[in-house]
Amino acid sequence: MTSPGFVLFDLDGTLIRPGAPVQRLHMSTMAAAIADVCGAAEEFRYEGGQLFYADIDLAGFTDAGTVHAALRHHGVPAGRLRQLTRQVMDALAARIGGSAADGGAGDLLSGCRALLEALRGHGCPLGMSTGNARSVARWKMRRTGLADLLRDGGFGDAARDRDDVVAAGVAALGGAGPGVVVGDTAKDVTAAHASGLRCLAVATGATPADELRAAGADAVVADLGGSAALDAVLRLLTPVASTEGVR
Ligand SMILES: [Mg+2]
Repeated sequence: MTSPGFVLFDLDGTLIRPGAPVQRLHMSTMAAAIADVCGAAEEFRYEGGQLFYADIDLAGFTDAGTVHAALRHHGVPAGRLRQLTRQVMDALAARIGGSAADGGAGDLLSGCRALLEALRGHGCPLGMSTGNARSVARWKMRRTGLADLLRDGGFGDAARDRDDVVAAGVAALGGAGPGVVVGDTAKDVTAAHASGLRCLAVATGATPADELRAAGADAVVADLGGSAALDAVLRLLTPVASTEGVR
């Protein structure tokens, strides 16, 4: 079977319900890792599906970017930020593996497993493009029962820029053929385009559909259920010359 192209999925807000137990445990484990290293931490909090640390809006942030911002918030000097961010990321990876989350398939947004299976059925290589650290992303996939479908990709262990995460995802999947990123934030859209990919945006995170369109999303769907998302991904994987007006 000839593959129509590869697809990279964001996790939080795209496959995983905002504020789901598995995501809350991720954030509380990160807060504990921050406290391990700098002796203080605040609780992450959700407002309308959006995640904050203190007054920092974390939409589209990678884990490394979140830790970096949190350490700055706690007054860590600029010259020590890089080293201490790495220490927190190591502590996060060590702690998350032992976490027994309450989560499960119920932490997933509706329709995502069916979409992944359908795309695999079409021969599309699948991967992640997530700000989560690799250890966290794989733990979430195990907890939610998607580990058989999503394994490699681009992660947020060191990258603070979403563009770098998508580029790493492309490289992890071999980078051959057209590709689509499925994500829920404006940063997913701009990062997809920076790597020459198209973006299907889904309005199940905190960003409304009109804002995702304004950010340049190539298509927007309300959620990943039904056939609309599958149809949109397959359409976006079709060479642009034959899909005029797809936007
Ligand atoms: Mg997201």
